[in-house]
Amino acid sequence: MKTTVFPDPARLTGDQLRGWACALCGARLYRDRSLGLVPDPYTSEYVELWACAPRCSGRRAR
Ligand SMILES: [Zn+2]
Repeated sequence: MKTTVFPDPARLTGDQLRGWACALCGARLYRDRSLGLVPDPYTSEYVELWACAPRCSGRRAR
């Protein structure tokens, strides 16, 4: 199983932290998968990150 590189929450946008956009590539989410919980740098609360499912298209992948 491929290891997912976990994104740095400090570099994510508000949309990514709210689960509206992919935390890995920034694309608007339609089908998503959970990456797990990370501390929100703005509120210090834990937020769940989401990413494209089954995988990112690669269009904007870093
Ligand atoms: Zn993605």
